[in-house]
Amino acid sequence: MAGASDIEWTEATWNPIAGCTILSPGCTNCYAQRLAARLQAMGSLKYQGTTRKSGRRHVWTGRVNIDQAALEAPLKWRRPLRIFVNSMSDLFQDEVPFELIAKIWAVMKETHWHTYQILTKRPERMRDVVSRLDDYLPNIWLGTSVENASYLDRINVLRSVPAQIRFVSFEPLIGPVVPVDLTDIHWAIVGGESGPGARPIDRQWVETIQDTCRAQNVPFFFKQWGGSRKGKAGRLLGGRTWDEYPISTISAA
Ligand code: SF4
Repeated sequence: MAGASDIEWTEATWNPIAGCTILSPGCTNCYAQRLAARLQAMGSLKYQGTTRKSGRRHVWTGRVNIDQAALEAPLKWRRPLRIFVNSMSDLFQDEVPFELIAKIWAVMKETHWHTYQILTKRPERMRDVVSRLDDYLPNIWLGTSVENASYLDRINVLRSVPAQIRFVSFEPLIGPVVPVDLTDIHWAIVGGESGPGARPIDRQWVETIQDTCRAQNVPFFFKQWGGSRKGKAGRLLGGRTWDEYPISTISAA
């Protein structure tokens, strides 16, 4: 059975690896880090050693565990799904060997009926790894996260990665990011941070990205306002939801 997801822009998650390292301010309140600590405390072997206590928080140790059983899970999911790969980690961190990424690529190739969404804060390694892989796979969407204007250069790197769909996730949006050039970007997601200690999002930051998407003809997906009570804050913008997708998803989903 697929790992059903409540992340608004996907249908399932697939986590063949567990564990990560903090990279930039967008990682500070990493949801995966909190959840991994909980799962580790509950005795989950997959997450053993991936987090440690630091003061009142749990933080990544930098250890990455491979879940061999999960590796081939999509083969058993017969219904076509949009699958977020490694929602609990970053596939392109240096600790994940090229050979393992190549195995994951092979599974995605074999399961051509699924659409895979891969998001990284390390687009340079994504570019290096993808250029070493033989296959250009139309069912893989490649994206990067940008939390504020200091990380806009990730989009420039993403532009040079071969992919049918390139996307940017402006989440958690913790600062303004405009002006932003979305040339050769096919989808933009925007969302505020949620959970304990969530940093506030500004409506104007969101609206300006939306205007940019409109002007540059990029589908716009507004995920959430976030905050410590994200359900209450909801995901309406201008009185409605914005769930636009790249065109190719119409046939893929
Ligand atoms: S890259 Fe993603 S999973 Fe890794 S620490 Fe940062 S937010 Fe968490």
